[in-house]
Amino acid sequence: MDIILFGGPGSGKGTQAERLQARLGIAHISSGELFRENIRNTTELGLLAKTYIDQGKLVPDEVTVEMIRARLRHADTEAGVLFDGFPRTLPQARALDDLLTSLSRKIDLVINLSVSDEEIVRRLSGRLICRECEAPFHKEFNPFQSCPENKCNGEFLYQREDDKPETVRERLRVFHQQTTPLIEYYQKKGILVSVDGEGHVEQVTETIMNTLTGLEAGMHSSDPSSPKTAAR
Ligand code: AMP
Repeated sequence: MDIILFGGPGSGKGTQAERLQARLGIAHISSGELFRENIRNTTELGLLAKTYIDQGKLVPDEVTVEMIRARLRHADTEAGVLFDGFPRTLPQARALDDLLTSLSRKIDLVINLSVSDEEIVRRLSGRLICRECEAPFHKEFNPFQSCPENKCNGEFLYQREDDKPETVRERLRVFHQQTTPLIEYYQKKGILVSVDGEGHVEQVTETIMNTLTGLEAGMHSSDPSSPKTAAR
């Protein structure tokens, strides 16, 4: 299965992707994480991406698509991928369709995590990331208690440069201008499901898992009232 986790900055895509990946056993591709890895390794791509990311802008489509194309060559993606943060523009969505078609695959489902702008600002302004394990925490809602990967002791928490208030405002503007048109793009294809992203983390995961179970049942059924149809 190839699935897109769609949503604004801070909508919980990364958190849900980690949880879903463990349960679905498919690869997780986060474009933001791939950029940050390149920045940490000071690659040419990382240096270029940083100039955009620090301003809350999108990295140009050609660069982003090329990075995803390269990632899709890895064998771990053959059983399916959970895309997180990609695509973010219409040209990226079309490029992804072409990439998957060339692999005789297609996007099966787009999960739109819907979260209000006020909630996004609240979440991002308090978000802290661990330099050691990369896990996200929150000053107020999810303070560090223990490391999910047993790698750190909460000593190296930092605020992402692009989570600073003025950059968050720009990221939201860019999201509404360039990324929300994708909702209509995938709605027209009949593969978009919206999920309330403001519930508890566990609740959101369960809602997504139920949708996926319904989709799988629908794939194996010719009944037009099957959950696949109902979920959409
Ligand atoms: P994220 O971790 O998904 O919030 O991404 C962090 C930043 O990386 C974004 O604000 C963008 O600057 C950049 N980025 C991530 N994914 C994409 C994408 N698909 N297209 C362009 N820029 C991206």
